[in-house]
Amino acid sequence: MTKILVPVKLVLDYNLKARVKSDKTGIDLTNVKLSINPFDEISVEEAVRLKEAGKATEIVVVSIGPAKAQDALRSGLAIGADRGILIETTEVVEPLNVAKILAKVVETEKPDLVFLGKQAIDDDSNQTGQSLAALLDWPQATFASTLVLEDGAVQVTREVDGGHQTLKLALPAVVTVDLRLNEPRYPTLPNIMKSKKKPIATQKIAEFGIDITPRLKVIEVHEPPTRKAGIKVKTAAELVDNLKKAGVL
Ligand code: AMP
Repeated sequence: MTKILVPVKLVLDYNLKARVKSDKTGIDLTNVKLSINPFDEISVEEAVRLKEAGKATEIVVVSIGPAKAQDALRSGLAIGADRGILIETTEVVEPLNVAKILAKVVETEKPDLVFLGKQAIDDDSNQTGQSLAALLDWPQATFASTLVLEDGAVQVTREVDGGHQTLKLALPAVVTVDLRLNEPRYPTLPNIMKSKKKPIATQKIAEFGIDITPRLKVIEVHEPPTRKAGIKVKTAAELVDNLKKAGVL
């Protein structure tokens, strides 16, 4: 039977506008709502659907981050994952190092599948799944929009430029999920209550013996330029006139 590991990240809630820190080193996360990365909700949902269909046996969610990253795990448990692993650190862990730690978790948990989001919406890296597959030397399918679990294999349809590509991967394998794979459920209150009793094991990042010193340095983060206010025109002629003045026509 199939065991699925689902890495989940806590990020700035997708409904909120990101504020850049005054020193321009990143996004200000103080006193803002943080939520599970939306793509990770999709990957947990997919795993839970497989379990409900009798095709998966256990779903383990794992998060690397500060103690608060538990919230992402609880969200995954409320959707239907069975247990969580929190790998605690207050340091910034860049995608390659996240992948190295996940590779160690895979060594001990021995899942048949790892479902990751195609990207974390905070820094939009889109690297972790690919790096993990490379480190494990496992087959990978990125940007999954349909997934069918078969005996010892998974068939994944990927969203690629201008169409779809369908791949068959032998298990164990890594899959990163895209937006159209499914629509995650809203956890019901009873499931939220139940999820609070599900176990979360906490480990310190140092236990993994991996050097998490970043290799990347953020030079500067800045807000997108503010758009200038538009003008209202009364007639088509006035519109054409303005477009000519702006050099568009
Ligand atoms: P990224 O490569 O940073 O865009 O992230 C892609 C995916 O990797 C996310 O959707 C998560 O599934 C996983 N991931 C990234 N960072 C973490 C983290 N700190 N803890 C757990 N999973 C993570």
